[in-house]
Amino acid sequence: MKSLNEIFSKAPDLSIKDVVYLLNIKSEDELKALQEKAYQITTEKIGNDVFYRGIVEFSNICILNCDYCGIRRGNNTLDRFMLTKKEVVDAAMWSAQMGYGSCVLQSGERKDKKFTEFVIECVKEIKKNTISEKLPEGLGITLSVGEQTKETYQKFFDAGAHRYLLRVETTDEKLFNKIHPEKQTLQSRIKSLEFLKEVGFQTGTGIMIGLPEQSLESIAKDILFFKDFDIDMVGMGPYINHPDTPMYELGMMDKDDLLKLSLKAIAAVRLIMPEVNIASTTALQALFPQGREMGIKHGANIIMPNLTPVEFREKYKLYDGKPCMDEAKEDCLKCLQMRVELADRNVGWNQWGDSKHFQNKQTT
Ligand code: SAH
Repeated sequence: MKSLNEIFSKAPDLSIKDVVYLLNIKSEDELKALQEKAYQITTEKIGNDVFYRGIVEFSNICILNCDYCGIRRGNNTLDRFMLTKKEVVDAAMWSAQMGYGSCVLQSGERKDKKFTEFVIECVKEIKKNTISEKLPEGLGITLSVGEQTKETYQKFFDAGAHRYLLRVETTDEKLFNKIHPEKQTLQSRIKSLEFLKEVGFQTGTGIMIGLPEQSLESIAKDILFFKDFDIDMVGMGPYINHPDTPMYELGMMDKDDLLKLSLKAIAAVRLIMPEVNIASTTALQALFPQGREMGIKHGANIIMPNLTPVEFREKYKLYDGKPCMDEAKEDCLKCLQMRVELADRNVGWNQWGDSKHFQNKQTT
């Protein structure tokens, strides 16, 4: 406990060694102390609200072949789909009506003009249709559609999207190259993150936790990268293997250990970056039914309810055991509110819930 208290007193300026210590905690007492500290910092720095971003997974068509991902191009067991603009806009409008405040549009990666124009059209239409007394600037829109050119990012921004998620996946170049067999490079991923910042997006990144051959030191370096890069939002989740991918046979971490490691990583990010938005990802719930509440208890403040029409969810399985596959969005709303309250937080209804870290940068 002595070392842990020393680390707490140094936060937010932690070294790699400190972060490795946090990730390596095994005693229940220390785990609890870390959880309580992260929760307390969250309450002090950003308050009691958890914000929703209704996520619409609008297409599983992907030009990439990431070895871990269920919608990789080479998975030919999969039916490919693309929602219509009306389906995307309707799902987003539903979330505005329910008071979610923000939505996320996510899909496999494509760079062709037809695709980027589709995204732009959806963003414009959602904005136009969601301006109301409760949301004077319309629904907040986050995009998560992979690496694009700076010009394309600019067009997305001009259309009205204001946050973007692009996980770096890992900053360990050797590991990055191992799990991305083709042309993808860490440099180009980081370049895209730079473009996003330059364009003015609130920029989010993250990693998968528990990848084969990923060390605690490697995760600690990723977490310090978020800080060095001055990232506004973090979405990290456990790596869960998918049977129709090449990485399946390499197995995955023991579920209990993986859940604990993911929660420790969330808490470590909160210690180091007290004012960023941190998502409690759905993959946490795939490991353990109360995984997302536990994420909130460890310092996360964002939840992403699934708004993808139920008939398409099966086709957007990035990993095995994805939860809520058949739960209608109405049921999801009730279930999530209960989950947030179980973690002693409130839901920040009808707000964008922007990253305080980003807001502070604008005013200084
Ligand atoms: N095409 C977009 C969205 C990708 S899917 C993009 O490139 O950003 C969103 C995230 O799902 C990925 O960034 C990856 O971190 C995660 N993911 C993919 N396969 C996974 C798996 N098997 N286990 C856990 N997370 C996975």
